[in-house]
Amino acid sequence: MKASAQQLEDLWQLQKLILDQRRLIAHAKQLSTGESLREQELRIVQLSELSRNQLMVVESVLAEKKRIESDLELVDKRIKTDQDRLNASSSTKDISGIQHEIDGLLQRKNMLEDTDLGILTDLDVQQQKLSALAKEKEAAEKELESSKSELRAQLESLKQENSNLNTEIEKLRSSFPPELLELFDKKLSKGTAVGRLVRSACNACNMNLNSTAIAEISNVPADQVALCPECAAIVIRQ
Ligand SMILES: [Zn+2]
Repeated sequence: MKASAQQLEDLWQLQKLILDQRRLIAHAKQLSTGESLREQELRIVQLSELSRNQLMVVESVLAEKKRIESDLELVDKRIKTDQDRLNASSSTKDISGIQHEIDGLLQRKNMLEDTDLGILTDLDVQQQKLSALAKEKEAAEKELESSKSELRAQLESLKQENSNLNTEIEKLRSSFPPELLELFDKKLSKGTAVGRLVRSACNACNMNLNSTAIAEISNVPADQVALCPECAAIVIRQ
């Protein structure tokens, strides 16, 4: 089959473009799985769970605070009632009994106030933890969004690159006689279609060709397609 030196160089270029396109498509496929976003997505799920748990902690501290405050209110009411009773009483025995009760209530009030203070401190700590988690989650979500748009831009650019490659490939393909193109396609479907003969090695199969094989190639007229005796690729002779 006839092929000029230029046609062989063009076949070499066509092969390069097709291999570039295969790599590009494989890369785009890998990117479009979204695999690179998994870790960020997982972190957001974890942060949501941590936030939910922390919210439950805050709610339980708030419930405890409410309980203590309602106890305090009750103690205050009883102190007030006792003091009214004390003011109204003239019996020494009653007065001493009521005073004793008031002392006990004041002690209880002190205790409740201490507990309330401790709860307030705890509430502050737990609320800060909750707000730190919310901030971290918000930042992670923003980061994910930006990774997603970066990925979309990358895929868009690969799509453009692929479309450019298609144009180049189609243009080049239309320049060959059909039978030469057919031979090239058949060989490319099985492996490397075109190899260069560098000294005595074929760079399609990376084999060093012996003198018999070299002679076999040399016997093919310069304007005819020569094949590598090892891998059957179309060879470009220097
Ligand atoms: Zn070869």
